[in-house]
Amino acid sequence: MAETVKLLINGEWVASDATETTPVHNPSDGTEIAATPVCGEAEVNRAVQAAAEAFPGWANTPAVDRARVMFRLVELMEKNFEALAQLVTRENGKTLDDSRGEVRRGMEVAEFACGVPALLMGDSLENIAREIDCDTIRQSMGVSVGITPFNFPFMVPMWTIPVALACGNTYVLKPSERVPLSAIRIGELLTEAGLPPGVFSIVHGGKDAVDALLSHSEVKTVSFVGSTPVAKYVYETGTRNGKRVQSAGGAKNYMIVLPDADLDSTVAAVMGSAYGCAGERCMAGSVLVCAEGAGERFLDPLSETARKFRLGPTDRDPDVQMGPVVTQTHLERIHQHIENGLSEGAELIVDGRDVKVEEAPNGFYLGATIFDQVTPEMSIAREEIFGPVLSTMHTDDLEGAIARCNASGYGNAAVLFTSSGGAARKFRHEVNVGMVGINVGVPAPMAFFPFSGWNNSFFGDLHVQGSEGISFFTRQKVTITRWIETKRQFF
Ligand code: NAD
Repeated sequence: MAETVKLLINGEWVASDATETTPVHNPSDGTEIAATPVCGEAEVNRAVQAAAEAFPGWANTPAVDRARVMFRLVELMEKNFEALAQLVTRENGKTLDDSRGEVRRGMEVAEFACGVPALLMGDSLENIAREIDCDTIRQSMGVSVGITPFNFPFMVPMWTIPVALACGNTYVLKPSERVPLSAIRIGELLTEAGLPPGVFSIVHGGKDAVDALLSHSEVKTVSFVGSTPVAKYVYETGTRNGKRVQSAGGAKNYMIVLPDADLDSTVAAVMGSAYGCAGERCMAGSVLVCAEGAGERFLDPLSETARKFRLGPTDRDPDVQMGPVVTQTHLERIHQHIENGLSEGAELIVDGRDVKVEEAPNGFYLGATIFDQVTPEMSIAREEIFGPVLSTMHTDDLEGAIARCNASGYGNAAVLFTSSGGAARKFRHEVNVGMVGINVGVPAPMAFFPFSGWNNSFFGDLHVQGSEGISFFTRQKVTITRWIETKRQFF
């Protein structure tokens, strides 16, 4: 029997009272490596209560001391870097290289949070009227909540935890029930870094736990990342309950290639975007629009490279290029998308269903897959597949390609491959998404820029990362001061 993971409440690792659990698998070979308890309202309330009680002490801790905890956290994560990457690979299945990238990106947010004393500074103006001065200070919000998805078990929790804590908030994390182990390691390292009890807690579970968090009166901010229907639900429920919510949803990211793009670097970038993390990435390019006849130059090399992609168990073979998807259920869902594409008339030019992984027959594998002759109304052009499936389509010109991209309704990323500055400028200006790549397959911004999803990929006003992250986790207080100079008397 795999061990059931614990909750972190008030600085103690405690067993859950829940009788129901969700299995956690190593996707590389299908073995059960842990179980996640399905917590209910009572356990969630205990964690939130502990966070509420810890809040005044933490909020009044000087910002430099809070920053010192972040410095120690970064140091500990650096020391444990390789083990953290292996843990991500073990529970999620992505390659070790992808996991290393994920851990590095997450740590960069903690590095950003080390600068919090400077980031929290307010503004001031003398003499807004005669003898009257005005200034702003930033104060923490209270109890913050994070609800995170399976595809980045380390990085997505780290998008908000360091910033929320450095800004003086306490935090309750509810990680994905499918990948709780990296989140638990974050909790252990935060404790080792010297965080006082109750400042950071972890609860587990699904909808019931989320609903308990969204309705608790002590919760002030909610940071959600996951699929669009749940993101919308969390945004609507959380804001209705008076919370400040940032809610990132799913995506359908379009890539456009023009005939003048560099061949080798474009093929490499498209492969990385479509098949990195086995396509389970909210920034994955899942549609490639070949404009102005670019398909003639790019489709064969892309298909050849995809056919040669090495699929295998990422937990034991460092040389595989792509690993399994997260669960058997998710694998079956992706197969259903492929069936839908075929029945709608798309042409399957690379069929990943043929690829077998002999050394790990129980893993959740699907090889790199490419559809051609996809049209905008087909489900594989509209719906997020979240697997290693690339749909290609063709337009006469760049305008037509941008129009297809803008019709998707999502708004995370869009990418153009070209050697024309004019085309690149037009694309950046007209494309209706929040993150743009020019000759870059995955335009994911670093910790000091916002992770800027638009449309159905984001609900809220302030994104994670950068100055928007600081604004999300603080509120400003404006003070207007009038001192009249009088003659002072000394007795
Ligand atoms: P998911 O929506 O199934 O789950 C996300 C979180 O919500 C989990 O913690 C889960 O327990 C909880 N949850 C699930 N169903 C719920 C419900 N009905 N009510 C309340 N809470 C619920 O997402 P996932 O499958 O874990 O992750 C993949 C999705 O996340 C993809 O759509 C991907 O695009 C998206 N994602 C988006 C971003 C971004 O920045 N936009 C980043 C990473 C992942």
